[in-house]
Amino acid sequence: MKITARDKLLKAKVGIMINRPFYSSLLLNLKMIENKSGSVWTDGTVISYDLSFFDACSVEEVEGVLVHELHHIILFHHLREGGRDHKNWNIATDYAINTELVDAGMRLPEGVLVDAVYRGMSAEQIYQKREKEEKQNKGKGEGEGQEEGEGETDNSNQSQSQSQSQSQSQAAPAWGGVEPAPRGEEEKQEQVWKERIVTAVMVAQGRGHVPGFAARLVEGIVSPKVDWWVRLRDFVDRAACGKNDYDAMRSNPRYTHTGFCLPALFSGSIRVTAAIDTSGSIDAQALGKFESELQEILDTMNAEITVLYCDSQLYPEHSRVFVSGDTIEFTPVGGGGTDFRPVFDSLEEDKPVTLLYFTDLYGRFPEYKPEYPVMWVVPGNSRECAPFGEVVNID
Ligand SMILES: [Zn+2]
Repeated sequence: MKITARDKLLKAKVGIMINRPFYSSLLLNLKMIENKSGSVWTDGTVISYDLSFFDACSVEEVEGVLVHELHHIILFHHLREGGRDHKNWNIATDYAINTELVDAGMRLPEGVLVDAVYRGMSAEQIYQKREKEEKQNKGKGEGEGQEEGEGETDNSNQSQSQSQSQSQSQAAPAWGGVEPAPRGEEEKQEQVWKERIVTAVMVAQGRGHVPGFAARLVEGIVSPKVDWWVRLRDFVDRAACGKNDYDAMRSNPRYTHTGFCLPALFSGSIRVTAAIDTSGSIDAQALGKFESELQEILDTMNAEITVLYCDSQLYPEHSRVFVSGDTIEFTPVGGGGTDFRPVFDSLEEDKPVTLLYFTDLYGRFPEYKPEYPVMWVVPGNSRECAPFGEVVNID
């Protein structure tokens, strides 16, 4: 008896449930709806499929298609298209997914886009690479005069692009599409899928089946739940030990809890500068928490803490140095606009071991990156970024 497409889909789902707990946990969050378009796609809320597409697939290939769709979501492809060309974004995201799936032994239907040249690249990188190659190919087609063009694009990938002659005019794959998330739901989608991924990894851990990439995914996309004050102390401790490679820490936060390295490696006191942005309204509760944390650092780390106040200008007459045995008490002054530069300028001559800057990050940053590590201590859940240093939110 011939197995129907509907049976294949059912068997594929059961197969995922039994053998792939990570994916099965994720799949449960998606509505499966039928369409008549001949394709399969997802937008992060549903997986839409045309049963007839599964006619030519084996059960393993249907499993592969479902897992492929889940990968679009867990890599947030439905949220990252931006202003890119929809078809070419689909092609790029498929290359990003399929190499990994094939490496993991998944079976995928005919017509799958796989190319080892894209191994390890993000969809954005693939998209850009293909776009660049397309431009170069066009340039060649239109004669010699066009070729010199943009300096940047000419250098690095020339040899590769000549051996790789795929062009952006390639047809989109017939299956496994990704559509942008429904309008207005983007932020919610990001949040809920992060939570679902973490849950899925936990479920899979319980059953001893966590795909390697899934663990990496969690590490990479979900910031670890570490209390802000642990991060703050760890940061100061690292600065004191000269171990603050803070750019690396930004991309791969890893917080050691091996205890302070002091005083074994450091005989003098650690000179910490704490700057407080006094423009506009200050979140008093967060400032209070920052104050007591500085006190903790003062008491336990043989530190010397200089507190500065700055809005659009510095108030040197109000700055104060606290040493071991002192009680830290902030006396904020100011209330004007926000400029971070006066603080950095004032520290140029006599650099601290580290600077902790209490601010909402709405202000003017210096043009240069200072030589000492900087931590921006930000009240609330603001997602503002700083051009350098680490950001920690006081919750
Ligand atoms: Zn796809």
